[in-house]
Amino acid sequence: QGQVVIVGAGHAGFTAAASLRRNGYAGAIALITAESCLPYQRPPLSKGYLDGLREDRLSFRPEHFYERKGIELLRAYRVEEIDRTAKAVVPASGESLRYDHLILATGSTPQAARLPGNDLDGVFRLHRRADADALRERLVTVSEVVIVGGGFIGLEFAAHARGRGKNVTIVEAADRLMARAVTPVMSEFFLREHVSAGSQVLLDTPVARLVGGDGSRVQGVELHDGSLVKADLVVVGVGVRANTGLAERAGLAVNDGVLVDRCLRTSDPDIFAIGDCASYPYRNRRTRHECVENAVGQAHAVASTLTSGESQPYRRTPVFWSDQADLKLQIVGDFSGSDRTEVIGDPAGRSFSVNCYRDGALIAVESVNRPSDHVAARKLVDRSGCSSPAQVEGS
Ligand code: FAD
Repeated sequence: QGQVVIVGAGHAGFTAAASLRRNGYAGAIALITAESCLPYQRPPLSKGYLDGLREDRLSFRPEHFYERKGIELLRAYRVEEIDRTAKAVVPASGESLRYDHLILATGSTPQAARLPGNDLDGVFRLHRRADADALRERLVTVSEVVIVGGGFIGLEFAAHARGRGKNVTIVEAADRLMARAVTPVMSEFFLREHVSAGSQVLLDTPVARLVGGDGSRVQGVELHDGSLVKADLVVVGVGVRANTGLAERAGLAVNDGVLVDRCLRTSDPDIFAIGDCASYPYRNRRTRHECVENAVGQAHAVASTLTSGESQPYRRTPVFWSDQADLKLQIVGDFSGSDRTEVIGDPAGRSFSVNCYRDGALIAVESVNRPSDHVAARKLVDRSGCSSPAQVEGS
C-alpha cells in the first residue's frame, strides 16, 4: 500500500497514524514531529496540566505503542521542504523521506501580537508543553497577572490564576469576550462570571505595549490611552494562525490555511491536509476549525480514504469545549450567520443553553453545565430542519 508520511503529531497527525493502523493499513507509516517529546494533547495545557496533571497523562500513548503498531515516530525532525517531484519530505539536516501519500497536520502557531515588549522575561504564550511548564513554574512566584486577549485559552488561564489567588486582569480589544466563537449572550455570561470571581476585565481596550523594568523583566502593560496595568506575568493569547509555510513553499494552494476539498485533498491529489492547518468547505464557505473534534474527525476521514481506496468526504459539524473554573462550556456548530437565538434554562443558576437559528434551522447550540443539551444538540444540529426547544433540551 506504499508509505504514508504524516507531518505533525498533534491531535490530527497522531489520530491519522493510529486510525490507519486500526483500519488495517498494511503499508509503512512515518509520523513526524518537530518537538522532541512524545506526541501529546494540547487542551490540558490551559486546564488540568496547570493543576499538576502528570506528564505521562498528557501524551497520547507511551513510546512502546508506536513500536507495537509499526509507526515510525521521528521526533525533533523539522520538515523544511516538500519535494513534490521526488515525492519526499526534506528536513533541514538529515535524510529525506519518501512518501506515496503525504498528510500535512502542521497545526497552528500563536499569533505574534505585534506588541513592543513581547520578548520581555515574564511574557508567555500557551501553546506547547514547554510553555505550560515554564508558566506553571513562574506562576508560583508572581501576584499580578495580566492576560492579553479574552479568548478561550486566556480565559481558562485567567480562571486558573484566579483560583490560585492571583490578581488577574484580562485586557480585550473587542467589545466582548470570545467574540469570534460565541454569541453575545454567552460572552455576557462569562464576563459576569469572571468579574464576580474577582478578575478585572477591560473590554474595548487595545494594548499599546508591554513595559519592562531596568532588567528585561515585564512590569506592566501599557494601554492605548497611556495608562499602565501592573504585571509581573503576562500571558498573550490573541489567536493563532495556520502553519502553511511548508505547503506554500511547495506551491500548494493556500489562503488562511492549506486549501482542501471535501475529501481533504490539497491541490496535489497525493497530499492531504487536516486539523488546524486545513481550510475546508463548510456550509458554502471555507473555514478552519481550531478544535480537537475537527482534527480527529478529519484524521478519521483521511485514514478511511487511504485504507478503503474510496474518497471519504468530511461532513462533521464542529464541536468545541472549554473549562473555566467550574463552568463547562460546550458548543456544537457555528453561531455566525444566525438570525435568532433563544436561551433555555437559567443563566443565573449557571446552567443554560443558547440555541442559534438561521432561517428557522438550528445551526448551533452553546451549553453551560448542561451536558444533556449538548448530547441532544450533536444530533439535531446536523439535521437541516428546524428543531424545537424541547428537542434540544434533550429531555
Ligand atoms: P497541533 O496540535 O498544533 O499539532 C501540530 C504539530 O505539527 C505540532 O507539534 C508542530 O510542532 C508540528 N509541526 C508543524 N510544522 C512542522 C514541520 N515543518 N515539521 C515537523 N513538525 C511540524 N480544542 C478543543 O476542542 N477544546 C479545548 O478545550 C482546547 N483547548 C486548548 C488549549 C490550548 C492551550 C491549546 C494550545 C489548544 C486548545 N485546543 C482546544 C485546540 C486544539 O488543541 C487544536 O485544535 C488541536 O491541537 C489541533 O491539532 P493539530 O494536530 O491540527 O495541530
